[in-house]
Amino acid sequence: MPTKELSSRCESLKLTPVGVAAPERKAGAVDPLEMALYQLRVASERLGISQDVFNMLRRFERIVTFCFPVRMDNGQIELFQGYRVLHNTSRGPGKGGIRYSPAVDVNEIAALAMWMTWKCAVVDIPFGGAKGGVCCDPRQMSIGEIERLTRRYTFELSPFIGPDLDVPAPDMNTNEQTMAWIMDTYSMGKGVTVLGAVTGKPLVLGGSHGRNQATGRGVMHIVNEAMKRQKMRTKNARIVVQGFGNVGRNVALIAHQDYGMKVIAVADQYGAVFNPKGLDVEALAAHVERSGRVPGFSEAEPIAPADLLELECDVLVPAAVENQITIANADRIRCRILAEAANGPTTPEADEILRQRGILILPDILTNAGGVTVSYFEWVQDLQSFFWTEQQVNEQLRKIMVSAFERVWNMAEREKCDLRTAALMIGVKTVAEATERRGLYP
Ligand code: NAD
Repeated sequence: MPTKELSSRCESLKLTPVGVAAPERKAGAVDPLEMALYQLRVASERLGISQDVFNMLRRFERIVTFCFPVRMDNGQIELFQGYRVLHNTSRGPGKGGIRYSPAVDVNEIAALAMWMTWKCAVVDIPFGGAKGGVCCDPRQMSIGEIERLTRRYTFELSPFIGPDLDVPAPDMNTNEQTMAWIMDTYSMGKGVTVLGAVTGKPLVLGGSHGRNQATGRGVMHIVNEAMKRQKMRTKNARIVVQGFGNVGRNVALIAHQDYGMKVIAVADQYGAVFNPKGLDVEALAAHVERSGRVPGFSEAEPIAPADLLELECDVLVPAAVENQITIANADRIRCRILAEAANGPTTPEADEILRQRGILILPDILTNAGGVTVSYFEWVQDLQSFFWTEQQVNEQLRKIMVSAFERVWNMAEREKCDLRTAALMIGVKTVAEATERRGLYP
């Protein structure tokens, strides 16, 4: 069992600061940092990475954690814990999203930063890995409170971010409006407008065409390539999507509109709906736009969220949070392909069970890399002040995703391993080589 072994490896890091309670995790869940360190060790051992380089890769270049005050609408001051973790910048500035959630803690953000490092290397874009977050519950906050929280968080982070240093982007519960506030706050401090300080911005503020759909579109490129290799047809194939935010909504829409797939079930944090004949995804998206939640959609029957993951289908897409497929439910998952649109949705134990059961897992660091790829395009456009058409963006995205898939698939065949190990090997090898070639200063 990897978990016990992982716990002992992680103990020495002692990343959770005193005074911040670790969030409760459900049965079978694994600390994301334990997962990330375990994966790094597996890949490093297969690659024969030296102990020195391994030690450099398992540590973090910078961990910023701070507590900051925000005045709430009722006049009271509330304190929030914010984080930004820079894992490795040997290949370029840090890159990674910012998430707002009550489950945010330093271990989660650190794991997500490490995954960003490998992800950028897998799609071969010149960034390192970073991630940020604030422990808060945006569902309980007004727009004004979220704006004040974002601006104060950004102000405190300003010395540590920037176009050449570390470039944030959206993640769970943050969006292009959040990115606009970040860009504005950062720019106010500098005295000039710095478009390249953050990606995922609105089009009118140096955003890129296609960024909103990029992660979902990239997921579907990878699913499509995998289905071709498995000799599966996309037309009428049944797909189940957990999460109906930026990523899940676009996966469902693109699967239906561009690939003719039947989206038979969808969940969000409030509940899940099911229609074996296929949901009308556009109508569902309009319903969620109006009501803010998936449940209550009249053209489908409600089901328990836990049951959604266990529905028989061709493709299952977790597009919400970590730790959804664990030792507690892995033997009841009934898909042919598991496409990890979320980061870290499958624990190492569950991964092993699914593989033994012949389920093809498309790993997160490959499958959801479309978002960071178009973030890279946005950063390039901002630095050049020269903007691309949506068609150019989508075509470049397709090329990068398809060639990353081919590299990972070929590596898996050569190494006789699963796609996750292959993707990690490509990511870790690239970063290890970059680290070694740079050498040590002084
Ligand atoms: P989001 O905040 O836009 O949407 C999250 C969705 O998941 C919402 O519909 C929410 O209701 C749902 N959800 C939350 N907890 C849930 C639960 N326990 N069960 C079912 N549904 C739940 O976030 P997003 O940007 O779509 O990100 C989703 C995942 O994709 C995250 O793991 C994120 O790290 C990853 N990701 C996002 C991007 C991006 O560009 N936004 C890029 C790569 C990876």
